[in-house]
Amino acid sequence: MPFLTQLADVARRTGSPVTEVAGWRTRGHGPQPEVQGVVCHHTAGPAGGGDYPSLAVVRDGRPGLSGPLSHFGLGRSGRIYVIAAGRCWHNAPSTSAWHDNSSSIGIEAENNGTQPWPEVQRESYVRLCAELCREFGLPASRVKAHREVNTAKPDPHSIDMNDFRASVAAILKGGPDASWTEEIVRSLPTIRLGDDNYDVKTVRACLFARGHVPAAAYGDSPDGLRGWLESTRADSGLIELVQAFQQARGIGADGVVGPETWPSLLRV
Ligand SMILES: [Zn+2]
Repeated sequence: MPFLTQLADVARRTGSPVTEVAGWRTRGHGPQPEVQGVVCHHTAGPAGGGDYPSLAVVRDGRPGLSGPLSHFGLGRSGRIYVIAAGRCWHNAPSTSAWHDNSSSIGIEAENNGTQPWPEVQRESYVRLCAELCREFGLPASRVKAHREVNTAKPDPHSIDMNDFRASVAAILKGGPDASWTEEIVRSLPTIRLGDDNYDVKTVRACLFARGHVPAAAYGDSPDGLRGWLESTRADSGLIELVQAFQQARGIGADGVVGPETWPSLLRV
């Protein structure tokens, strides 16, 4: 199996916000030999502020253990950090042949080991595991807590893994077509600067409906607001508004309307 360069797309299928950590596509202790299981961890990182303060450690390692330590990070907000596409040092020794470093995906969720899990983080955790099972053809039973496959480990703390796996199984049973809104979002094209098509009008209408179009944006348009709304061109003025919208929603402000921004625009 090569480097798992599909992991960012898999993460986006959860509907959670996704951060692709620079260099992730080639990061790893060699390629990932196979994927037979998923191992859930908590970082035991500091209780202090920030969404994912353990990022540097998970990416770069710590004294005695070089990074990457896991493929994914999971922030307190439910944001998924895609850190590595190759093999990671997240579980050794393993009591399960399906969950050693060469055979499994690791997820390091931000938690200091005692603090409660925010609901949004827990939900994102379940959905990420479900999408990984779907991608690699695994049953929910292959999702394990670190403590279930390594007797020396306590993580992730206080999560009932039978409940967790039942939630994963429920999503898998629902199938990829369970939500018609997801289908619609999937069918929408990515809009970038310079594009010229009717979906650009949808972007304009949504931004306006969400209150993200100040009068100054269409002041110079010959037909005022109507002309602005009718334009099929993704010009630089529109892209700036998209960036402001993304910033307001905590989405990466790249000015590209893709799978992460469409649901927020359409509020699905
Ligand atoms: Zn662990």
